[in-house]
Amino acid sequence: MVGLAVGDELISVNDREPTDIIEYQQLIDGESVTLVVQREGESLRRKVTVHKTQGQPLGLAIDSAVFDRIRTCDNHCSFCFIYQLPKGMRRSLYVKDDDFRLSFLYGNYTTLTRFTEFDLERIVEEGLSPLYVSIHSTNPELRAEMLRNPRGATSLRWLRELLRAGIEVHAQVVVCPGVNDAEQLERTLLDVLSLYPQLASVALVPVGVSDFSLEETMRSHTEDEARRVVALADRYQSLTRELLGASASSRATSSTSSRAWRPARDQVRESRPGRERHRPGGGVHRELRRAHRHGQAGHRLLPVGRRCARDWLSRPAWGRRESRARR
Ligand code: SF4
Repeated sequence: MVGLAVGDELISVNDREPTDIIEYQQLIDGESVTLVVQREGESLRRKVTVHKTQGQPLGLAIDSAVFDRIRTCDNHCSFCFIYQLPKGMRRSLYVKDDDFRLSFLYGNYTTLTRFTEFDLERIVEEGLSPLYVSIHSTNPELRAEMLRNPRGATSLRWLRELLRAGIEVHAQVVVCPGVNDAEQLERTLLDVLSLYPQLASVALVPVGVSDFSLEETMRSHTEDEARRVVALADRYQSLTRELLGASASSRATSSTSSRAWRPARDQVRESRPGRERHRPGGGVHRELRRAHRHGQAGHRLLPVGRRCARDWLSRPAWGRRESRARR
């Protein structure tokens, strides 16, 4: 296409250097797009202007969703699936991300411990919805303890702001027996009902413990414990239906019989009329999410920006279990 080649590095679009694929997609949405690219081995940058109809894709594939740097997670959860991986696997598997952009693009869960006012503004302005948030517990001390991060005690305030702004949010609670189940889980479900009734869904996920876990306190649910979680979920589904007119979810497909819990999305939508109408870039975002889900935007043909995926993939993996085990 217009003299571009696989491996070219995209420097800017319409004089702006996009920080991620979401911004890139918005920048190329217009009728005239000017790209500045750099080719490996050539010192000169070349400028290319493409004329097209609005919304028409450029036909380029980008190698990474985030061009600046994935925002990594600064929690150290005892139940973290990444800490439970064996050593020696491909590096990208060890990246602990806590990046709302990946939540929007891929449905990754974020704890919001690294969330900022700026992020909230961007999400609301660009209508980056839905997002996926890990609650785990609404007890501030317990949440901080589970995340091993003092910011875990307060970061759910951002969840309230997101919901207030009309962002669709799906939540999860990783249920760890002896930690956040039983009374603590009931407290969480009650708080969800009273503090975050606009949530589109809440999934109760049984903790997974691999052979490589070093956490002595982590273990799988017994059958009895799993039954109690399911019974509690059933009770709160009924309560939700009663109080909010919520629809029941179907059984989760977990082998330990956890159960998803889904307040009525229709009611949530009624509480924020006009949201769909005013959401900027809705078509762009839908297309973007579709492309990513089908892997169409994930090929490494055009590294984008100076700090592209190549950069972070060449660094030591974040969240390696070695540093944590040494503590
Ligand atoms: S489980 Fe905890 S430590 Fe692991 S990536 Fe998620 S938030 Fe981070």
